[in-house]
Amino acid sequence: MPSYKAPIRDLQFVFHELHQADQTLGSLPGFDEVSPDLVDAILEEGGKICEELLHPLNQSGDQEGCRFEDGKVTTPKGFREAYRTFIEGGWPSLAADPDLGGQGLPETISFMLEEMLCSANVSFSLYPGLTRGAINALSHHASDELKQQYLPKMVEGVWSGTMCLTEPHCGTDLGLVRTRAVPNDDGSYAISGTKIFITGGEHDLTENIIHLVLARLPDAPEGVRGISLFLVPRQLPDADNDPGEQNGVSCGSIEHKMGIKASSTCVMNFDSAKGFLVGPENKGLACMFTMMNAERLAIGMQGLGLGEVAYQNAVEYARERLQSRAATGVKAPDKAADPLLVHPDVRRMLLTTRAYNEAARALAVWTAINIDLAHRHPEPEKRQEADDFVALITPIIKAFFSDYGYETTTLCQQVYGGHGYIREWGMEQFVRDARIAQIYEGTNGIQAMDLVRRKLFIEDGRLPQRFFALLDGFVAGHAADETLAIYITPLAEANKLLQELTDWLVTASRDNPDQLGAAATDYLRIFALTTFAWMWARMAITALARVADDDSGFYRTKLRTASFFMGRLLPQIEGLARGVRSGADLMMAFDESEF
Ligand SMILES: Cc1cc2nc3c(=O)[nH]c(=O)nc-3n(C[C@H](O)[C@H](O)[C@H](O)COP(=O)(O)OP(=O)(O)OC[C@H]3O[C@@H](n4cnc5c(N)ncnc54)[C@H](O)[C@@H]3O)c2cc1C
Repeated sequence: MPSYKAPIRDLQFVFHELHQADQTLGSLPGFDEVSPDLVDAILEEGGKICEELLHPLNQSGDQEGCRFEDGKVTTPKGFREAYRTFIEGGWPSLAADPDLGGQGLPETISFMLEEMLCSANVSFSLYPGLTRGAINALSHHASDELKQQYLPKMVEGVWSGTMCLTEPHCGTDLGLVRTRAVPNDDGSYAISGTKIFITGGEHDLTENIIHLVLARLPDAPEGVRGISLFLVPRQLPDADNDPGEQNGVSCGSIEHKMGIKASSTCVMNFDSAKGFLVGPENKGLACMFTMMNAERLAIGMQGLGLGEVAYQNAVEYARERLQSRAATGVKAPDKAADPLLVHPDVRRMLLTTRAYNEAARALAVWTAINIDLAHRHPEPEKRQEADDFVALITPIIKAFFSDYGYETTTLCQQVYGGHGYIREWGMEQFVRDARIAQIYEGTNGIQAMDLVRRKLFIEDGRLPQRFFALLDGFVAGHAADETLAIYITPLAEANKLLQELTDWLVTASRDNPDQLGAAATDYLRIFALTTFAWMWARMAITALARVADDDSGFYRTKLRTASFFMGRLLPQIEGLARGVRSGADLMMAFDESEF
């Protein structure tokens, strides 16, 4: 059975030392109580919950899965009790508004918990995760009356939330939504239609389930401009605001799927269900994007979380499993063979995983700090700057973290050889669980399109220009220091390549819009690797300043991992860039009949 140890030391390094988040966050209004001790205590306690309560249910949850009977869904053994402990500990409400019963802590702390939850039990993490997203959307767009009625119970975790977008004929293209909303006399709406693949659509963890549903009003325009957002409770709240009369919402079935088997994925039928408009008519997609953007970041964390737990187990295995002798001579003469860890190819797999994980953790926390800045910085210009960074990086985190998460869980499975393919060891579950993150919440192809078609072009390229200015400034600020050249030179080259490629792409797309779609996935990967190089350069600088006084070896290992990333992983961008420049015609010249 696999094990999990929360990476507290590395989270502390990233939060306190690398990003110096205590100062940045502590100076924001409402966060005066955030102190290093408080952050460490939350990380320690959160880590314990993940290690001792949630991870032990991960493998059994996968084997048992969710059960569907008579319209009801039963989660695997132990999930109900674990969920109760989780909400009693206040874990879902860390960053929620204190006026609604939340703890008002920075999003950054909630992000760090999210990584640990995803490592420990990604299926479990989805139940509170979707609820958090729904709270976010309702807080921004619902009427005060709806907020007062629904949010406190959702923040407490006794009611959960869902996101109902997908229909049998429409996933990516939400302009095709057919679910109807007909006004009732009392100001509510009758919602009718079928939604599929709804995560947490039905389950036994909470007293009530609050669905956020995209639907069309009778006279709505065609396409995405005619979609509205509705709150549709499974049970309508009674006079005491307890779950009362059953609404016209039912679960038709659950899906049997490749991974995340302890997360219920439901067909949801709405049959004249009573719903309440959230936000303005026909602006539902924009309102739903508040939830979707937060979810996209959370899905990226699944790649990191699974990469981390897979790495930890693969390292242990590589230490213990004895096969062959090292090429440079026997390393364990008292044993029948040397441990796997002596072989360069095994190290390649482990270090690839580690180098991605640690850069991803640094970038995730940096992004979360920017979310807090965007919400709370007193200066509007600083809020906008932070918001621009988050908007630019969101598709990159969603797509690249989940792509590399699938790659690295597979690499770590490979470290186990044949045993990695056997269920008992747990590695194949990490691979299966990682796969969905590349697909849901907008496929990774669609994330790449969001980057190249939208984010590059907002206000004449303001988002990438701000990002490039940040990197240019960082590189220029450290260029004179020769001790940093092994980190700064590759970053400077990557930054130059990315900027040139961006110019090429924007220009090429003027003549041929297909250039964007043809480039998108590889361009996103180049962007992500360059951003990781920036994180590694920053981590190396932080580690260099401390390595001389360090007996633990922590900073020395950081520096070596930084060199591994720059030398072995970053050069991928050169081949990818050549591919991008080869242009769209290589694909689009084919006749449809040739496929
Ligand atoms: C386990 C699971 C849980 C889910 N949870 C939820 C949930 O809670 N709520 C919810 O609403 N949905 C949920 N989904 C649905 C999920 O978000 C969609 O499956 C996903 O967005 C893709 O939509 P689709 O399956 O219809 O694929 P399609 O839209 O049919 O896409 C098929 C392929 O075509 C590509 N493609 C489509 N359009 C374009 C384009 N314009 N340009 C380039 N490529 C394109 C896609 O990238 C993809 O590779 C879930 C799905 C699963 C499997």
